[in-house]
Order: sequence, then C-alpha cells, then structure tokens
Amino acid sequence: MAYNSQNIFAKILRGEAPSFKVYEDEHTFVMMDIMPQTKGHLLILTKEEAETLLDLSVEGAQACVATAKKIAPALLEVTNADGFVMSQFNNEVAGQTVYHVHFHLVPRYAGQKVER
Ligand code: 5GP
Repeated sequence: MAYNSQNIFAKILRGEAPSFKVYEDEHTFVMMDIMPQTKGHLLILTKEEAETLLDLSVEGAQACVATAKKIAPALLEVTNADGFVMSQFNNEVAGQTVYHVHFHLVPRYAGQKVER
C-alpha cells in the first residue's frame, strides 16, 4: 500500500490536527494516546512517511527506540508506574488502526489488569 499522507498522525505531525505533545526531536514526536490503555499511555511517532515497520528505515527505527529510552525514565517517575510495555502493530490483522509507524509506551501498574 502507498503511504496515505491524510492519515491522522501525518496531520498531527504537520500541525493540522491537535495533540498533547510531550517530546519532539528531529526524527520523532511523542504524544499522549487519545484513548489510553493505562494512565500515561504515550505514542512515539516516526517523522518518516512509513506505514509499517517494514517501510521504516533502520535509522528511523533506531531513533524511535532511542526516544523510548530517553523518555521512559521520566514517564515512570511522573506516573509512578511499576513497569511499561513498548509495542508496535503492523497491518489490520495485528490490530494496526493508524497507518503511520508508531510505538506504544504503556505504563503498567501492580495489580492492574489490561487488555494487551
Ligand atoms: P494502533 O494503530 O497501534 O492499533 O493504535 C493507534 C493508537 O492511536 C490507538 O491507541 C489510538 O487510541 C490512538 N489514536 C488514534 N487517533 C488518535 C488521535 O487523533 N490522537 C491521538 N493522540 N491518538 C490517537
């Protein structure tokens, strides 16, 4: 599939749609998820035009992981979470709903049950 520049994350990156931004650098953009699975659920967006991880450059993937490592300590401190999940979904069958590569950072709290 060709990258669709009208997807919601592309609009957010262009400033055409609102978001709650928490971090940005040359290669990545981090915002609060609009429907958080747990308190503090963040999304790390690549700034590359890539639908799935297979379309993303190695450098783009490395930048997303570097951003995760940079912001996760502050996320844990601010939320008082006990751990976190980093996840990324590719194609409809895997649960992908927005076709612009993003990683979920989902804080986990002791004793709290979550879906995925
Ligand atoms: P995935 O494609 O990995 O299944 O998940 C897409 C994620 O984006 C979901 O967790 C959903 O809540 C989130 N999301 C969808 N639309 C928006 C939006 O307009 N703004 C923000 N901040 N998050 C969104």
